[in-house]
Amino acid sequence: MIDDATVSKIFDAANILDVVSDFVALKKRGNNYFGCCPFHNEKTASFSVSPAKNIYYCFGCHKGGNSVNFIMEHENLPYYEALKYLANKFHIEVTETERTPEEQERHDDRESMIVLNEFAKNYFIRNMTETEEGRAIGYKYFKERGFNEETIKTYELGYSLSDRKAFTEFALKSGYQLKYLISTSNGQTNSGTGLTIKHDDGYTFDRFSGRVMFPIHSITGKVIGFGGRVLDARTKGVNVKYMNSPQSEIYDKSRSLYGIYQAKASIVKNDKCFLVEGYTDVLSMHQSGIENVVASNGTALTIEQIRLIKKFTNNITVLYDGDDAGIHAALRGIDMILAEGLNVKVLLLPDGEDPDSFARNHSSSELEAFIGANETDFVLFKTRLLLGDAGNDPIKKAELINDIVASIAAISDDIKRLLYVKECAKLMDIEEAVLKDATEKKISKITYQQLEAAQKERERERRQKEMAEQTPAQQSQTPEQRPILNEETALNNRVCELESELLKYLIQFGDKVLFEVKKENEPAEIVTVSQYILNELKINNIAFKIDACRKMLDIYISTAEHNTTPDDSLFTQCHDADVSSFAVKLLVSKNEVSKEFWDKRNRYVPPEQGHLKEMVDITLNHYKFEIAQQEIKNIGKIIAQLQTEPDNDEKIAEQLTKLGVFQRYIIKLGDSLGIVMPRK
Ligand code: ZN
Repeated sequence: MIDDATVSKIFDAANILDVVSDFVALKKRGNNYFGCCPFHNEKTASFSVSPAKNIYYCFGCHKGGNSVNFIMEHENLPYYEALKYLANKFHIEVTETERTPEEQERHDDRESMIVLNEFAKNYFIRNMTETEEGRAIGYKYFKERGFNEETIKTYELGYSLSDRKAFTEFALKSGYQLKYLISTSNGQTNSGTGLTIKHDDGYTFDRFSGRVMFPIHSITGKVIGFGGRVLDARTKGVNVKYMNSPQSEIYDKSRSLYGIYQAKASIVKNDKCFLVEGYTDVLSMHQSGIENVVASNGTALTIEQIRLIKKFTNNITVLYDGDDAGIHAALRGIDMILAEGLNVKVLLLPDGEDPDSFARNHSSSELEAFIGANETDFVLFKTRLLLGDAGNDPIKKAELINDIVASIAAISDDIKRLLYVKECAKLMDIEEAVLKDATEKKISKITYQQLEAAQKERERERRQKEMAEQTPAQQSQTPEQRPILNEETALNNRVCELESELLKYLIQFGDKVLFEVKKENEPAEIVTVSQYILNELKINNIAFKIDACRKMLDIYISTAEHNTTPDDSLFTQCHDADVSSFAVKLLVSKNEVSKEFWDKRNRYVPPEQGHLKEMVDITLNHYKFEIAQQEIKNIGKIIAQLQTEPDNDEKIAEQLTKLGVFQRYIIKLGDSLGIVMPRK
């Protein structure tokens, strides 16, 4: 648990723009920033961030809140963990009071592994700069490869000593536990960093001894794993030059990209990402001024990696060495990028060059000029390449057409696909209609899996929409706990809508004069919106039913008592996460939702243009009507219960009287609202 003062400090420091920018590419529009929503699938940016209000809000799926809400939602963390995340990001020291053993345990593994990796990273850096061996071997290696101090620092490069026990012993001596040093399977994933290898006989040694070290950072800059390269002198007879940290709780190589942390700002700025293969390709390109570059860690590109890039841009340029085998192997992964809706270009380097050597041997302006002149659209590139391979061989040409068809069919955008059919037909010298036909056949074939995926996506969107319409109390339940939408939840939705509407009047127009009460020989007494609504609730003995609404009303009342109108931030920056996310939804859409509310009832008049009293009254009456209906339902239930037991006649009669009162009341309210009630 974190004490209140620290929580306040975290809330004050957690700048929403910094927090969201780690995950979403944002562009400035007016005073706000917009990007594609990370919570629902969309092509146009409807996700907004307001630095002034320190909140985010999506106009598509209506998710909103402050920095804490964002981290909770995006990283799927509980409130407490989200606070810790932000404290860490904004360098706020957290003095923790005691945790329960369960909390401690859950929290420990990941945290300990990250801390250990950080420790190891610093140790490897010190090895390289402060030991003779490190300088003579590790540092010399990077220098010979042409990397300067800044690059070494930016990517936090280091060196692991050749003494096979050096790191493990130092870590143990520094108080780190062996279980986090080694890699142990806990059934599903591995816990532990695997920096140390443990033999069956108990003998332990460093995984990376004698290697130069490349820390692999998460999107937020945490060291989640390492790549280690054997040095040239030792590569003779060694097949595997590079070794990576094993898969673990914190490191999944198919979900991470080398260099993403250092590249993300530049990717957003340039609206483009270069994809290369190896660590040194990234370093050389970055050093030569092209900073929007990442590597796939030597694995075949995965969907998760593509989606990681897609958070920042829709444009990918893949760089290939000139060698033939490499190109053909790499081509395969690209259909997947097309299917994700990204625009893919290909840059083929001159024979014998790789991105590393090419970037090293050319100035940044030469590099940029070369890219500009040689970047080719992927599908056209592939067509030309395969066409060259096929020559005049008809069988090979048929294969080639199939291959191209697969790529074109993967493109989800209809117009783009048609353009490719046109271009490629021309290139391959076949009838456009034939290619179009083949593509369509392929689509119907390949899409079984895609359809399934799309189906799931639609299902997710539907659920999201449903969630948006539910009350916050319902949202915090898991799907299993949530009752199916029945009459009762529908009633709750209406109650939630009306309580929200009343809150909006209070917050937006609370200090506006609603009417004057004339008195003889005395100055007229004014009644504000706030006084009127609060009084109406009081005399009718109504407390708000929806949790978040009630809490907001409490905040409102306690500030109104001091004769001040509460500022929006009092709600949106509230330390109760349910309240803040609900408040953002309510306040951002202050006008829109009101309009929707009144449009439904065919009587929208902007409150600014008078009629405030009329609209407040109608809202209050609608609200009282719903509450009375709930009351009638409750009484019905009570009577049914009483009837199951003997000797309850008196109590039943009592309830029936009460029921009569409410029924007459509701008919009267219904009349004033134009709702026809069945009269019994
Ligand atoms: Zn959204």
